Amino acid sequence: MKTFDVVIIGAGGAGMMCAREAGKRGRRVAIIDHAPKVGAKILISGGGRCNFTNRGTGPDNYVSQNPHFCKSALSRFTPADFIALVKDYRIPYHEKKLGQLFCDRSAKDIVEMLVSECEKAGVELLLKCTCEEIRKSNRFELSTSLGEMTCDSLVIATGGLSIPKVGATDFGYRIARQFGLNIVYPAPALDGFRFSPEDLKKFGDLTGVSTDALVSCNEASFRENILFTHAGLSGPAALQASLYWEPDDPVEIDFLPAFEPGRLEESFIKKKEKGLKSEVKTLLGDLLPQRLAETLCALNLPPHATLQQLSDKAIGSFASGIHHFSFTPHSTVGYSKAEVTRGGVDTQELSSKTMECRKLPGLYFIGEVVDVTGQLGGYNFQWAWSSGWAAGQAV
Ligand SMILES: Cc1cc2nc3c(=O)[nH]c(=O)nc-3n(C[C@H](O)[C@H](O)[C@H](O)COP(=O)(O)OP(=O)(O)OC[C@H]3O[C@@H](n4cnc5c(N)ncnc54)[C@H](O)[C@@H]3O)c2cc1C
Repeated sequence: MKTFDVVIIGAGGAGMMCAREAGKRGRRVAIIDHAPKVGAKILISGGGRCNFTNRGTGPDNYVSQNPHFCKSALSRFTPADFIALVKDYRIPYHEKKLGQLFCDRSAKDIVEMLVSECEKAGVELLLKCTCEEIRKSNRFELSTSLGEMTCDSLVIATGGLSIPKVGATDFGYRIARQFGLNIVYPAPALDGFRFSPEDLKKFGDLTGVSTDALVSCNEASFRENILFTHAGLSGPAALQASLYWEPDDPVEIDFLPAFEPGRLEESFIKKKEKGLKSEVKTLLGDLLPQRLAETLCALNLPPHATLQQLSDKAIGSFASGIHHFSFTPHSTVGYSKAEVTRGGVDTQELSSKTMECRKLPGLYFIGEVVDVTGQLGGYNFQWAWSSGWAAGQAV
């Protein structure tokens, strides 16, 4: 029987940050993980360069049933705190855009830094270890593939369901259910959209077309690139919008976000008045990728339409359609591509200061397994660091 003060299940960003903090406080800490190596998601993140935080992180960058829950942890371990750690290790990094910080070399730098911090804090790392059963007496008792263990504090840091091939499981949700905790229904997010069969017929030929757009869903709007794929819509703006999407919700796209309202209509009417004979798809092709311009014209205008053939009202409604194109996705893309899992352990069950369960003192949930999900741009790692740090002070 191995005895620890703290056992953390899951050696991802949240688990390792929590272990480091608890170890620094003199607690006897073990992290167990079923994977053969730590930080698998860190290694594949940010295209291999890990977008490890965002300088502008704030509660508005997160989705949760309780939008206030993340405030305490984010304010006590901030992006500046993580950046200071990265600087201590002389890890070179750069800001790509919109406050997003990436490693210059490789995400491996972040994993090695966290492992080194855990070693310094005396944390025992137990890999290829599965946990078969958890019981609660006066302590937590764990039956694992490496033998029986007991601990005072048990931290669940097993992440969400996305990318099963790098070790994602529903373990955290199962443990939450075992102890009677509510779970906000998990769903894949930051994965973009699949078109309905009808929309796929309309847009299937646009595979590979990318353009600047404003994508809106349920009050949230994102202006970045979109990318048409063989199955639907990807690219940063579509990924962001998918975080806010519920089944049957429409998604709106403004294909010309740089144009103020009315400017496209006005410029087309002026061109019509000057007697311009060009087809509308040619004119629109000067502003949008040609294949997209042709598709939008084919959907909304007679073949080969010129401005001369259209009434001012028809021009107005065509221009409006370019700014307010609406479709209802069939679904989001799914866990095989999702960067995160939305939903998770209900924040009402947890203390926002320590991440400890209200119903079961000694049990903690941190990181992505909790119902706090960040937008694209380094916010999910910041939540992993901040929530891990918060629990690390309390376990
Ligand atoms: C492709 C991709 C790219 C991403 N890029 C970014 C990015 O650049 N910036 C950003 O902020 N976020 C990014 N994310 C999201 C980010 O990776 C996660 O939100 C973050 O890793 C969550 O940290 P975590 O510690 O909570 O969980 P995880 O990192 O998922 O760690 C969970 C750990 O638990 C272990 N585990 C799971 N089940 C069990 C079990 N039953 N028994 C034992 N161990 C178990 C796993 O092996 C894993 O080591 C990306 C995600 C993906 C999939």
